[in-house]
Amino acid sequence: MCGVFAVIGVENAAAELYVGMVHLQHRGQDAAGLITFDFKDPNNGVKISKDIGLVSDVFTEQKLMALDGQMGIGHTRYPTVGVGDVKEVQPFFNRYPDGIALAFNGNIVNYLVLKEKLRMSRVYLSSNSDGEVLLQLFGDSYGSGSGNGPEAVFRAVKDVHREVIGGYAVVIMIANKGIAAFRDPNGIRPLLMGEKSLNGKKSYAFASESIALTIQGYENIRDLKPGEAVFVDSQLKVHSEVIQAAEPSPCVFEYVYFSTVESVFEGKQIYNVRKNLGHELAAKLKERWPELEVDVVIPVPDTSRTAASALAKALEVPYEEGLIKNRYIGRTFIMPVQKIRENAMKLKLKPIESVIKGKKVMVVDDSIVRGTTSRRIVELLRESGAKKVYFTSTFPPIRNPCYYGIDFQRKEELIAHGRTIEEVEKEIGADKLIYQDVEGLQRAVGTEKLCTACVTGKYPTTTEHTKELTELRRKHLAQATSKC
Ligand code: SF4
Repeated sequence: MCGVFAVIGVENAAAELYVGMVHLQHRGQDAAGLITFDFKDPNNGVKISKDIGLVSDVFTEQKLMALDGQMGIGHTRYPTVGVGDVKEVQPFFNRYPDGIALAFNGNIVNYLVLKEKLRMSRVYLSSNSDGEVLLQLFGDSYGSGSGNGPEAVFRAVKDVHREVIGGYAVVIMIANKGIAAFRDPNGIRPLLMGEKSLNGKKSYAFASESIALTIQGYENIRDLKPGEAVFVDSQLKVHSEVIQAAEPSPCVFEYVYFSTVESVFEGKQIYNVRKNLGHELAAKLKERWPELEVDVVIPVPDTSRTAASALAKALEVPYEEGLIKNRYIGRTFIMPVQKIRENAMKLKLKPIESVIKGKKVMVVDDSIVRGTTSRRIVELLRESGAKKVYFTSTFPPIRNPCYYGIDFQRKEELIAHGRTIEEVEKEIGADKLIYQDVEGLQRAVGTEKLCTACVTGKYPTTTEHTKELTELRRKHLAQATSKC
């Protein structure tokens, strides 16, 4: 999962890109990059700066000052394909045709097939990133016919849609021409656009989450439709077209875990969805286990706070902060390597003994992926004197890999794969484990038009080539782990 931001029509694109990316930092903490273009000095080329690290570490004031121009794109990376080195930091840039830069959020399922196809047509690729393949495919089509306006952009998107299987939200900067943005035909990964007027002058921006737009005064914010492409040209004229639409399947995990509560995705406030998730869990508990005695409800900070507080209120049980997170350690799940993940877990959460000791504690987490965190939390609560530990997950059991940009591409790493709920309960050591069910999840979001493949196994795209992708991920993880 990554964050993308693009802007056109402002005096200082780098400043807006920086702010946008800081507000998308939770989507990827591994690397960051920016590229800009100055319409007032078109012969001076594009300016690019990217590196491994957090946005605030990668971009000093001096570096931002050098990134002049009125349009640009930015990226915060969380690697799912590639070994995570500096060569793979986005945006990618090709000089031909016209000077095209690309950044994207998602995953290309048939990456290896496309890479081989490009290799056979004598294209040299310098990284292990699927973003580079996407850029090459787009550029080949964009440069293949006549024109360099919206018709060329839409033709290229059409070709990308035809060739690429996966979940992807893409932003593109074409030097001297404009900004393009598009989503995959199922709209699996999020992408929104907004506009603002300053002194009668319009500007447009695109982002993975609405918060990166609203915080900078953008209005009329809307999600790009599944399969839609938008091109804002150098005259700030907006061209849009749904190029290829399939069954809408936005990722349900965005609501539960990835997006921040302040964001709105597909017209639904994440905060409200998380509250609904708590209510759904409370209703399930009351119906199925009315005899369960709970003294206190505590969240696993931070994502599950909203749901835990709604659950506690509905159960009429006190809500307390029983686990405190060290805010200088990143999300364990976001860290791409298991070894780093486990070490981070030991340091990340600290219990408040006075909240836990002698109590029947219901702990609420957003989801259970590998079980590493859940197991450690149960241990921590027991070490702090909990009489009982009831573990609840606002997301149903994750039994299938995600091939669309969330880092669980191998079923063997999922604790619920091949296990019953009782077996997972035993594995994590809880007195009771309660999962949300799919229907509760859909009711909480308010629609059934969602990707729930990691739960149900019903993938919105073909699963052809997923084996190769899984194998590739295994190889990259082994390489990355050996570097640790
Ligand atoms: S498989 Fe799960 S995590 Fe992946 S896109 Fe679908 S809902 Fe999201």
